[in-house]
Amino acid sequence: MSSSDQPSVRLRPEIVALPAYRQGKAAETSAFKLSSNENPFGPLPGVIDAVAAETAFNRYPDATALALREKLATLYARSVDEVHIGSGSVAILAQLILAAAGPGDEVVYPWRSFEAYPSLVTVAGATSVQVPNRADHGHDLTAMAAAITDRTRVVIVCTPNNPTGNIVTADEFDAFMASVPSDLLVILDEAYCEFVTEPGAVTGPPLLTRYPNLVVLRTFSKAYGLAGLRVGYALGPVGILDAARSTAIPLSVTGQGAAAAIASLDEQAALMERVGVLAARRDDVWRELTAQGWQIPQPHGNFLWLPTGAHTASVAEQLGAAGLIVRAFHPEGIRISIGEAEAMEKLLQISKEIVNALP
Ligand code: PMP
Repeated sequence: MSSSDQPSVRLRPEIVALPAYRQGKAAETSAFKLSSNENPFGPLPGVIDAVAAETAFNRYPDATALALREKLATLYARSVDEVHIGSGSVAILAQLILAAAGPGDEVVYPWRSFEAYPSLVTVAGATSVQVPNRADHGHDLTAMAAAITDRTRVVIVCTPNNPTGNIVTADEFDAFMASVPSDLLVILDEAYCEFVTEPGAVTGPPLLTRYPNLVVLRTFSKAYGLAGLRVGYALGPVGILDAARSTAIPLSVTGQGAAAAIASLDEQAALMERVGVLAARRDDVWRELTAQGWQIPQPHGNFLWLPTGAHTASVAEQLGAAGLIVRAFHPEGIRISIGEAEAMEKLLQISKEIVNALP
C-alpha cells in the first residue's frame, strides 16, 4: 500500500495489514491455468439448461436454498437442517469461525494449508495457532491436539490437504477426535474428497452421528466443476449450523448456483467418470515426476505439491515461461493443479529439464 492509499478513517489495524485473497493468475491465451485447483472439464450434462431456466433475476433467491438442502439431505441421510449451503465452502468456513471464535480465542489449524484460514481467523478477531505439518507434509494431528488450550474454539483439519495433497486416515482422525474436548468445534474441510481413491482415508459424513462437535465442509467447486457459481455446503449438527446461518451474509447463494448444484447431483455417473479420469491422470503424473527424481508427497486431490524450497521462485518462473501458470508458496513449494492432458504433457517435459538442472 502506498502512503496515498492509507485509509483516512480508523479501521481495524489487523485488517488493514491483511493481504487480500490471492487468486491464481488468469491464463493468457496460450497458457494453461493450473493455479486454482479448478476442474478442466466444463459443467456436467444438464447444468447449463438448469441454470438457463432460472430467469427470475428480479427476485431474491430462496435464502436457505431449500431444494438443494433437501437433495443433499436425502443423499447423506440427514435432516434438511443438518445441511447448510454457502456461496462456496469458504463462506461457510468464515461463518463457522465467526460463530465460534472472537477476540482472545484461538483457532488451531495445520500449516501449510488452505490460504484462507489465517485471513478468516484474523477477520473474526481471533488468533491463529498454526501447527507445522510433518516432514512428509501431512498433518501432525498429535501436535495439533497438543496445541489445544482452554482458549481454543475451533480446530480445522483439511483432507486432502491443500496444497500438499496428503490425506488423514480414518484411524488417525478417530484417534484425534478422541483427544479433543467434545465441546470444541472441529471442522473437517473435505473440498477435494471426491478425488480420493485411498481406501483408508477418512470420510466425514458417516462420522457425524459419532461426533456431535464435527462439521464437514464440501464444495461444488472442485470435482463438480462449478467454481464460478460459488456453491459449497456443510453437514453437521443443527445447533452449530444454525449459528453459521446467523453469521452468514443473507441471500448470497444464487438461484442459478443452487440449480446448477441440483442438476450436478443428478449426474453421479458422469461425475465419477470425470473424477476417475483426473485421479488417474494425477497418479500417472505423480509416478512420472517421481521417476524423474522429484520427491513429491502422494497426491490425493486434483493437484500436486512440489517441495521446491529455496528454488520455488525460479522453478515457478520456468514453469510460467513454458506456459504453465502454477501457484508458488515461497519459500516452501509449488502447487500444480491436474489440468488438461496437454498441460500435463507439457509439465512432464519441462519438469525433467528443471529437475536435472537443480543443484
Ligand atoms: N477448502 C479448501 C481446502 C480449498 O482449497 C478451497 C478452495 N481453494 C475451499 C475450501 C473453498 O472452496 P469454495 O469456496 O470454492 O467452495
